[in-house]
Parts: sequence; C-alpha cells; structure tokens
Amino acid sequence: MNLFGMQLDLFGNNSDAPAEPAKPNVPSSVSRNGLVHFKYNTQLKKSIRCKGGVMFGHPEVILPAYMKDAEFAEARELAAEWAEHAVRKKTAKNKAAIKDLVSRFWTLVEQILADRGEESLSSKGRLPPIKPQGKYHNLNDVLAAINSTYFEDKLTCRITWSNRVGGLSFHSVRKDPVTGEEFHLISISKGYDAANCPEYAVAGVVYHECLHIAIPVEVKNGRRVVHGRNFRARERQYIYYDEWIKWHNQVLPLNIRKMRRHAEL
Ligand SMILES: [Zn+2]
Repeated sequence: MNLFGMQLDLFGNNSDAPAEPAKPNVPSSVSRNGLVHFKYNTQLKKSIRCKGGVMFGHPEVILPAYMKDAEFAEARELAAEWAEHAVRKKTAKNKAAIKDLVSRFWTLVEQILADRGEESLSSKGRLPPIKPQGKYHNLNDVLAAINSTYFEDKLTCRITWSNRVGGLSFHSVRKDPVTGEEFHLISISKGYDAANCPEYAVAGVVYHECLHIAIPVEVKNGRRVVHGRNFRARERQYIYYDEWIKWHNQVLPLNIRKMRRHAEL
C-alpha cells in the first residue's frame, strides 16, 4: 500500500484514482483539431457517412443524431480519423486502417451505450422485414424451383421483395439479429411483382441473384469482377434466358417508371 492510497482512504475515497477533472466543453460540430466537421441525421442509427473535401480538403462526417451528446466525444474523434482515411485513395494499407478505425468506432459506441444502460445496437436489428409473398408472385416458391433445378437444392439464402424504388435487384449478406448468424439475402425489385410479369422473368432474376451467391466476386488486377465470363456463361444456362432478358430490358423499365408514379402494377 502506498502513501497516496492511504491518504485517499483518509479522505474517504475508495478508489486509488484521483477524481476526474471537469471535462472541457467539447463542441459537437467539429473534431478537436478543428478540421473535420460533424453533422447529425436522425435517420441514421447504425451507420455513419462522410463527404470529402468540405473544409479545405477535409471531410465532413454525418453521424446518427444520438452521437451529438458529450459522451460520444471520443467516438467522434475516431469517426473523424476514419473519414480522413475514407476520402483518400484506397490503397491496401489505407483500407486496413479504415477497417480498423470503423471497428474501433463501433466498439466504442457500443461501450458508451452500454455504460448508459441502453440496449446494444445489434439487438435493435437493422434487418429489413423479409417479405417473399408479393401481390402476384411468391418468391419462396420461385427460389425453391430455381434452387432445385440449377443448384441441387444446395443454396441457402432468404429472399424478399425489395423496398428500394430504384428498381434494382441485389444480393447482400446480413446478420440475423437473434442468432447472430450471417445469411445471404436476395432482394428482388418490386418491378417484377406485376400482372405483366411472367413467371419465367421472375425466375430469371432470382437465378441471376442466386448465381452471385454461387460465384463470388473475383478480384483481377485490383478490379472487382462481378459478372465475369464464367458468371455470364452460367447465366445463359437458364432455359428462358432470352425471354427473361427481353422482358427485363423492355418491360421492367416501364414498370419502374410506374412505381415511381405510385401507379398499380
Ligand atoms: Zn448481378
């Protein structure tokens, strides 16, 4: 036991650490070095964004509104550091730094929320609702047929109609908020859930997205090859390939235009 400890004990302080000095008032609009500006968005919960070249080449970071509180000052500093890297050229070294910063940032945010006694972000679950039953087509049925015909029933994934209005179908990897397990999620454009859309066209786009699971993205000379030669060859094995592509090019754009006008499909 040291003297200081004894002294502290004498003053009735249980801890060896001196009382924390009052924190200087940190503005929530800018990083400590004054170079990175922070903006807040109430729509954001589990993501942060950055825009390059706002303040003499320094980025601006858009944070979820709850991070405006003083407790998040250290997290904001990490976000600022992350943004400075994120707007730079994506070299391998820079990418590693970005990944590290982003993971440290979220770990700290989780810690701050836990200290406050708030529920963790992961239990809030940003998983979108999974709705395979459409107005005209049931995607689970289409997926089951494609899976058995082209993939020996070996693909494991979930499928949903997409809420995006842009009309794109896509595939992503999600985490189940309950089990924590990762799974593939195929999201199909609602432009396909239409009276004028034949089954072979829905099946075509589902098959395409399934291929993305079966054939992962390749990196060639630093470039991401998403629809490589092998992908295109496999894609053409779909028996209604020509019919699907024709529908996709000619009818889908009209349906998407209708969706934008909120018209019935
Ligand atoms: Zn694709």
